[in-house]
Amino acid sequence: MVHLFIPRETREGEARVASIPETVRSLIEAGLTVSVETKAGLPAGFSDTSYQAAGADLVDSSPHAWAGADILLKLHPPTQEEAARLKKGSLVVCFFQPALNPDSAEALQGAGASVFAMERIPRTTAAQKMDALSSQANTAGYKAAVLAAATLGRWFPLMMTAAGTVKPAKVVVFGAGVAGLQAIATARRLGAQVQATDIRPEVKEQVESLGGRFIEVKMEERAGDEASVYAEEASEDYKKRQEEAVAEAVAEADVVITTALVPGAKAPILLSRERVETMAPGSVVVDLAAIQGGNCELTRKGETVIHQGVTILGPEDLAATVATHASELYARNLLQVVRHLCPEGKLTLDLEDEITGAALALHHGKVT
Ligand code: NAD
Repeated sequence: MVHLFIPRETREGEARVASIPETVRSLIEAGLTVSVETKAGLPAGFSDTSYQAAGADLVDSSPHAWAGADILLKLHPPTQEEAARLKKGSLVVCFFQPALNPDSAEALQGAGASVFAMERIPRTTAAQKMDALSSQANTAGYKAAVLAAATLGRWFPLMMTAAGTVKPAKVVVFGAGVAGLQAIATARRLGAQVQATDIRPEVKEQVESLGGRFIEVKMEERAGDEASVYAEEASEDYKKRQEEAVAEAVAEADVVITTALVPGAKAPILLSRERVETMAPGSVVVDLAAIQGGNCELTRKGETVIHQGVTILGPEDLAATVATHASELYARNLLQVVRHLCPEGKLTLDLEDEITGAALALHHGKVT
């Protein structure tokens, strides 16, 4: 029988857990056995007894617990010390990101482990239910708008009171991917006026359907361009035109939320120091790209910077601060991954399979 282990996440600031009682029950129904480290779910709001009631064994963090697992379900890759406890040939399912976690990557290779990297799952219809990049980006986008509202010394909605009328907050969102669209939707629900821009003009309709205004960057059509769901690095000409197109909206904004990423590259700088200096004191920037260098020139990863009265937040992982729902969504993504890899209750790593072939970053310690 395939045995799964869900350890407690040890990374500082991480409150999420890779499985919740609901998905543990489904995994057991699928013919697998599951053990969960004590207190693994507690920071996300899931008690030990709720895992036990779902059929899991509660275990401590001893090397024995790690060595007994065929599959480990995690958020972050195991540390060097944790990787050394793994049984040879075991499979770790997590956000691998070897460039950000080189020590873990080396240790997992040394341990002869296989790694199913959640960030490498193809963005296809077949894999949609496993798409943890989307589930976590969705959560981060929601929290970015809430964080901005909580930091801003103004209200988001239009409000008419006996003491006078309050104008709605003006929010500008850079990047209308999964996180950006959720930030737009949340800011709109809170009553703000929202404008957004994206290098992919095809997202205009989605922005408008959420009640936002799309800031278009006029470019000449380039013949032969193929539409891609992912942004490529912007040309110098595009950057110049974008800067001009957003200048007025940024200067008038109470809040700027930046979410623009380019897969495999440093995040583009979209908000220069000069542009921030056009914003009124008291305005707020939330930079969701901080982990990849930031979209704002003044962002410092994990810190709050105040520049001429403008607060610039560079949170490292906002999804981790909405731990209960982020864990629920991630756990459901992982349930689908395990079902895919263990169709008959037996672990099968088929490299010819479109999803497994793309996501399997290490196979028995070897880079695929
Ligand atoms: P992402 O995190 O890679 O980037 C965020 C956004 O920033 C993107 O919309 C991107 O176009 C934008 N951006 C990048 N550089 C920019 C620049 N210089 N100026 C302005 N904007 C810039 O994107 P994501 O949220 O992972 O989503 C990427 C795409 O994949 C989206 O179209 C999304 O809808 C799509 N997607 C498809 C599926 C699926 O089909 N299963 C699942 C998830 C996402």
